[in-house]
Amino acid sequence: MFAQSVIRKHCTFWVAVIGILLQLSGCAEEQKPPSALERVQTEGVLRVITRNSPATYFQDRNGETGFEYELVKRFAADLKVKLEIQTADNLDELFSRLKAPDGPSLAAAGLTSSADRKSEFQFSKPYLQVTPQVIYRHGNRRPTRPEDLIGKKIMVLKGSSHANQLAMLKVQYPTLAYEESSDVEVVDLLRMVDEGQIDLTLVDSNELSMNQVYFPNVRVAFDLGDELGLSWAVPGGEDHSLLDEMNAFLQRANENGSLKRLKDRYYGHVDVLGYVGAYTFAQHLQNRLPRYEQFFRDAGKNHSLDWRLLAAMGYQESLWQPTATSKTGVRGLMMLTLRTAQAMGVSNRLDPKQSIQGGAKYIVKVKAGLPDSIKEPDRTWFALAAYNVGGGHLEDARKLTQAEGLDPNKWLDVQKILPRLSQKKWFSKTRYGYARGGEPVHFVRNIRRYYDILTWVTQPQLEDSQVVDSNIHVPGIDKNNLKKETSPL
Ligand code: GLU
Repeated sequence: MFAQSVIRKHCTFWVAVIGILLQLSGCAEEQKPPSALERVQTEGVLRVITRNSPATYFQDRNGETGFEYELVKRFAADLKVKLEIQTADNLDELFSRLKAPDGPSLAAAGLTSSADRKSEFQFSKPYLQVTPQVIYRHGNRRPTRPEDLIGKKIMVLKGSSHANQLAMLKVQYPTLAYEESSDVEVVDLLRMVDEGQIDLTLVDSNELSMNQVYFPNVRVAFDLGDELGLSWAVPGGEDHSLLDEMNAFLQRANENGSLKRLKDRYYGHVDVLGYVGAYTFAQHLQNRLPRYEQFFRDAGKNHSLDWRLLAAMGYQESLWQPTATSKTGVRGLMMLTLRTAQAMGVSNRLDPKQSIQGGAKYIVKVKAGLPDSIKEPDRTWFALAAYNVGGGHLEDARKLTQAEGLDPNKWLDVQKILPRLSQKKWFSKTRYGYARGGEPVHFVRNIRRYYDILTWVTQPQLEDSQVVDSNIHVPGIDKNNLKKETSPL
């Protein structure tokens, strides 16, 4: 009896103790801090830190843009949260803010996942392959190997993968000297080489190809090392929740073609101009465009178009020459045919103002005639193609595209098929027959390149850091000599 009651008492005691322990462990569970992913989901915001560069993130008339921005925007949409972008002035700042307790969730800034960085941060799977390159000025003696860096005036971004590469080289070549600057971006480094203020710099190949056009004198001396992947970074530690989501997203983006489309959008046409074209464009930007810029702005306003797209079209058509004439009878700055000019109310095709207004009116008309299934930004590229080759031929190419199992509403797909319109095997099956199908592909690619450049040089973020002697300018950065860019439309 006694023994039984003791056992019962003991049991009750232990049940109570276990109960308390269970409760406590429950409390401990509740107090566990949320994972990085949970934090993003509860706050409903993905905070991303980046750098302001043509290859990463910048503002244009339509707001935020850039390869990194577009990619991370898709990731935020996938997570069904808002995106908040922060910019760091340099890489050291970027990484120190990333590891701060209330810092951003991830860094998307064209980052290389070096061994050093991996000890402090976690990196996603790579989404872009790049090569670190030594950059020199055309006309100077070309360095060809690491030893040639000795005795040269070299500057790189502070805290960059390139500063790290130079530090490692210095172990081997102790006399190697270089400066790491936290006050500059890649555009500044390239400008300094272009203008001869420094002998050499190191940048990633994607940054160079994106910026080449602004700095016609810069050239690749040699690749310093192998191809590397660019990755997104999150703080280090045991929490892989956000990293796993990032990797799953990047894999999906790879598989469903959206990553490829973004690469095409931002990098697919970067080498269109070449050195000579880049140099010429930079010159014309300075000495021809200012004469017609207001006409482009006015026409853009009248027809609800981005004036820079019109300016890019004008450059492709006539290199901004109002008296341009071709053998086929098209004339003027926007190279209108007589019929189009008359239909658009242009009485004198050689009058640049009228020509630009006529071209604007015409592209709006062409765009309105496209099927509703084509959405922006592809809609703009299709409109340009139709402007160049005609709506009928474009429709033929769209049908061939569909027959191939590709997407007739995506420019990336249709541009692959368009050149077939000049092969009998293909055009014999189409309604409108032969066309020089390769031409609209070049036409669109060039205009997109000019448009990108104009978008970058007129972006509001550069307002405070430009030497301006006309409204349009190549980004040469001299912080002591400022004048405000007129705000874009
Ligand atoms: N990839 C470089 C880094 O991670 C930054 C970009 C560049 O300097 O070209 O430091």
